[in-house]
Amino acid sequence: MKDQLLLLLELQTIDLKVRELDTARKALPARSAPLRNDLAKLEAMLDGEKQKLTDAELWQRQQQAILAREQDLLRAAKSKLQGTRTGKEFHAATREVEFKRKSINDREGELKKVTEALGSSGAVIGERDAAIQKLRDELAAEEARIAAQLEELAQQVAVITAGRDEVRAKIDKAWLKTYDALIVRGVAVAPVIAGICQGCRVRILPQQNNKLARLETIEACERCGRIIYRKEMLEPPAADAAPATADAPSA
Ligand SMILES: [Zn+2]
Repeated sequence: MKDQLLLLLELQTIDLKVRELDTARKALPARSAPLRNDLAKLEAMLDGEKQKLTDAELWQRQQQAILAREQDLLRAAKSKLQGTRTGKEFHAATREVEFKRKSINDREGELKKVTEALGSSGAVIGERDAAIQKLRDELAAEEARIAAQLEELAQQVAVITAGRDEVRAKIDKAWLKTYDALIVRGVAVAPVIAGICQGCRVRILPQQNNKLARLETIEACERCGRIIYRKEMLEPPAADAAPATADAPSA
């Protein structure tokens, strides 16, 4: 029975390690999420600014076209002014020229302001573009690191599970069934230390504890159902464990 228990423990060591690696593997992709979120926010911001710039440029072109028409009209008004015969006509034509001049001046002033604003917003967009490119590079590097770690974890799992089927083949079918039902919920094989099941922290019956010492049967904890063994029977206090006081006889 000792062999069977040791095999069950070996299987459990493999399965728990695989579970640990699996947890690490699942947590990895989330590591790039903050960077990805930052990038998405910046990209949205930049898209908004680029759209505003496009709109302003369109407005600028429209205003320039209007301005050109107004200048044509001003020239026409000026030549009309030269052709006036009466004082009344002269007065009206002069007013028209003045009116068109003012309109042109106002529009030129507006255009100048917008052109200046376009220049500075172009510079801001340039800076943002550079910042975004930097983030994209960082994200790509982080994702490459994550991919490498995933690959490494997959290799570790392959190494650890290499002998798993062989171990399972040597374990009694009935105990394997018990083990499989338990391992999905956590730990399947638990040590008993000083009469206490380490799976559920409850004291087992003294008779069962004595049975465990004989290693003739495989026992399950009556409280939690886990396969139990007396720690000192399978894992005698070794040099790498607690150094002092071996209070139990070694098997
Ligand atoms: Zn228990």
